[in-house]
Amino acid sequence: MLCLFSLFLFLLSSRGEDAVPTATTVNENGPLLALTFDDGPYPKVTTHILDVLEKHGVCATFFVLGSRVEGREEVLLRMEALGCEIGNHTFSHADLTRLSAEQCKEEIDKTNAEFERALGHPASVVRPPYGFYNAAVRKNVPYPLVLWTVDTNDWRPRNVAELAGAVVREAEDGCVILMHDQQSSTAQAMDAIIPALVAKGFRFVTVSELIAATDGACKAVKMPGGG
Ligand SMILES: [Zn+2]
Repeated sequence: MLCLFSLFLFLLSSRGEDAVPTATTVNENGPLLALTFDDGPYPKVTTHILDVLEKHGVCATFFVLGSRVEGREEVLLRMEALGCEIGNHTFSHADLTRLSAEQCKEEIDKTNAEFERALGHPASVVRPPYGFYNAAVRKNVPYPLVLWTVDTNDWRPRNVAELAGAVVREAEDGCVILMHDQQSSTAQAMDAIIPALVAKGFRFVTVSELIAATDGACKAVKMPGGG
């Protein structure tokens, strides 16, 4: 009887492992992928996304607005505890190309001061809002500027199955996928996106890990001082 019970427990546990593919099962030489989420945190949506990342043992990068840190420090701490990276998306979602050098620096520095307060360190990568940058922005923001290779247009509500299908279809080695932790449809799509990408053998990395792995030659990243 005891033996049968053990067998039952064994079957139950091995079924559980099959049901949730995790990053530990992924080929070490698999293609690299950086998921990024902008404009948050919005605790309900961001927490749902973090739950999915945690369930599958994968990471992402969150480009957080400095103005949204206060009162949401716990969400940021959980991102880091899960191995995610927090990037700087300016304080007020400003178009940096329209600001003076001083205003531009203030947007970045005020946000990093919020990260210092909440996490004990600043961010080491910046995503300029709307992806807008020029020579002056590159000079005034001495950090890697992170753009993207796949735009999901998920800042507006989207059909969940369509969104999930598009992301899984467009993912390729070295890609940086632009999403937003703002709409519940994005969080719901993650339930399908993450296991599908894990099953395809992708290795999930943070943006800084992607920069390191590609020696700064990632096509979505403008390195400071570069051409
Ligand atoms: Zn944004």
